[in-house]
Amino acid sequence: MPATDPRELGLVADCGSCFGLCCVALPFAASADFAADKAAGDPCHNLRDDFRCSIHEQLRQRGYPGCTVFDCFGAGQKVSQVTFEGRSWREAPATARQMYAVFPVMRQLHELLWYLTEALTLEPARPIRAELRQALDETERLTREPAGVLEKLDVAAHRGEVNGLLLRTSELVRAGHRGKDRRGADLIGARLRGADLRGANLRGAYLIGADLRGADLRQADLIGADLRGADLAGADLTGSVFLTQAQVNAAKGDAATRLPHALARPAHWPSTHTGPTPSPRPKREQGHHGRPRGTGRRPRRR
Ligand code: SF4
Repeated sequence: MPATDPRELGLVADCGSCFGLCCVALPFAASADFAADKAAGDPCHNLRDDFRCSIHEQLRQRGYPGCTVFDCFGAGQKVSQVTFEGRSWREAPATARQMYAVFPVMRQLHELLWYLTEALTLEPARPIRAELRQALDETERLTREPAGVLEKLDVAAHRGEVNGLLLRTSELVRAGHRGKDRRGADLIGARLRGADLRGANLRGAYLIGADLRGADLRQADLIGADLRGADLAGADLTGSVFLTQAQVNAAKGDAATRLPHALARPAHWPSTHTGPTPSPRPKREQGHHGRPRGTGRRPRRR
């Protein structure tokens, strides 16, 4: 049986093995997520010489909550230690431009590896397991290409191919649940407290600031759903598919929020139950309720 543990597979960020790439390569604009502007390629002024963050313990208090929700899926250490063989942009400044160009490509490939690895663990996806395995092997092979190849890789085309398989996986998982189809739906600020969203298709849905307290999201497909500021207190997300740590980190939750086993409870969530007790017979979805203020761009980095 091939390994399916994301940590074992190098799909969990190991900042100690990375040259602070997310703190250098990516741009960010001063906003509620970041206290200052920074251009792509400029090291953040909080980045220390040893590639550690000087305000790591106070990111939220110091105005950098966007840094606490970014997830590179292990791309940072792959680029640092594999593609560039452990030579940092400080040691070899001539490689910096290429390293910064490769990092976002690698991040996308590692994100696909995350989804494919999860898909391979899902029993309903057994009929397409060989295709999933093949896609995972091909994606892994691409991550080991030299920097010059990665830099020019048509990652969108590869994403498109893998996405077809992920869609089929989602359909197999959700078959029989007759879940709602809310793909790409504008559910910003929606009142979904206690909603029955089992098996729902929420791919790419905008759930920014939505009230999902006590909602039942088991077997829901949450790939790409924007959960910034969504309230997941008491919600059940066990068995939901294609949910990532970055999405969870961007949402609010509490001690009663139930997460898929591969994901960790964010440290900034309260350790007590703050939401309603989940209802044994969930209410129906109540729909859209306008846009909250302060819903800026999607957080980019940790
Ligand atoms: S984690 Fe954020 S604040 Fe800290 S060095 Fe990186 S970009 Fe800067």
